[in-house]
Amino acid sequence: MIIVMRPGSKQQEVNKVEQRLTELGFATHVIVGEEKTVIGAIGDKAALNSEGILNMPGVESMVPIKKPYKLVSRELKKNCSIITVGNIKIGGGNLVVMAGPCAVESEEQLMQAALAVKQAGATILRGGAFKPRTSPYAFQGMEEEGLKLLAKASQLTGMPIVTEAVDPRDVELVAQYADIIQIGARNMQNFRLLQEVGQTGKPVLLKRGMCATIEDWLMAAEYIMAGGSHDVILCERGIRTYETAVRNTLDLSAVPVVKELSHLPLIVDPSHATGYARYVAPLAKGAIAVGADGLMIEVHPDPSRALCDGPQSLTPEQFTALMRELRGLAEYIGVNLP
Ligand code: PEP
Ligand code: MN
Repeated sequence: MIIVMRPGSKQQEVNKVEQRLTELGFATHVIVGEEKTVIGAIGDKAALNSEGILNMPGVESMVPIKKPYKLVSRELKKNCSIITVGNIKIGGGNLVVMAGPCAVESEEQLMQAALAVKQAGATILRGGAFKPRTSPYAFQGMEEEGLKLLAKASQLTGMPIVTEAVDPRDVELVAQYADIIQIGARNMQNFRLLQEVGQTGKPVLLKRGMCATIEDWLMAAEYIMAGGSHDVILCERGIRTYETAVRNTLDLSAVPVVKELSHLPLIVDPSHATGYARYVAPLAKGAIAVGADGLMIEVHPDPSRALCDGPQSLTPEQFTALMRELRGLAEYIGVNLP
C-alpha cells in the first residue's frame, strides 16, 4: 500500500502515520519526492484500517501497489533511483562501468588489471574472490586472500570494489571489503543469501538468474530491499535459451521492460551474456543505446592465461578502445559517462 501525503505535509504528520503503520505491523519506507512524500507500507493489508489512516492529518490518499514486488516497484517511486557509491553516482542518467578480471588470481594480475581499467575510464573494479563454478574441480577463488588483494587494488586506484558473496556464511566477511556485494546468477533465488546481504545495508548488484523471468528477478530484489539494503543495482547477464552459438542469450528487451516496472538502476554484463570477447563491444554499445545505466565487463591483462572466463575477457587494449566508443555514444544519447 502507498500512503500519499498532501503537498506541504509536516514532518511530524509523516512520523505519526509511520508510527501508526508500524503499530499495525507494517514495514514502512518513506520516500520524499519533490512535491509529495509517500510512505510505502508493506505487510498484511487485512490489518490496515484504511479509514483510520485516511483521517490522519496530512494524509491525501492511499493507493494499493498492484505488483507483487513493492519496494522495487515504479508504482511506489516514480523517479529513477540514483545510487551513490563513494563519489560515484549510478542511475538517473549517470552511467557506470564496472570492469576487471573474472577472478582475483594473484597480486600481479589484479594490480595490472585494476590500473588498466582505471586508465581506460572504468570507475568500479570487479573481481571475484569466491567463484561460483559450475564444476567442483574448477578454480574456486582466492577467498579472503583475494578480498585483501581487492582492498589493496582499491587503495592503489581509488576505485570502489564489487565482489561476489556465494554463501550466507561469507556475507559478513565479504561486506568488510566490498563496496558493492554481488549476487551471482546462480544464486539469484538463494533467499537466505538475499536476506543476509539485505541486512548488511550495503549496495548490492543483483544479477539475473539464467532461467529467471523478470518478475522472479524483481522479487529477488524485493527480498534484499525488504531486508534493509535499499541500494540495489540490477544486472542483466543473459539467459538460457535454445541458442548455442553464444554462452547465454542477452535479453536487451529486459532493459526497457525493467525500467518501466522498477525505479532501480540496471546495468548489462555483455561478457557473461556472450562468452566471447569479440561480441562484447557490439552488445555493450547496444546496452547503452537501449537505456542501460552501465556495464560490467571482464578485462584480463592476459586472457589466454586466465583461470576463469578467459575467452570472454577483453585485453586492456580492447577495453580502452571500447571505452572510447562508449564515450561518443554516451554523448550522443545525452547521458553522463564520467
Ligand atoms: C561473475 O560475474 O563473475 C559471474 C560469475 O557472473 P554470473 O553470476 O552472471 O554468471
Ligand atoms: Mn566470469
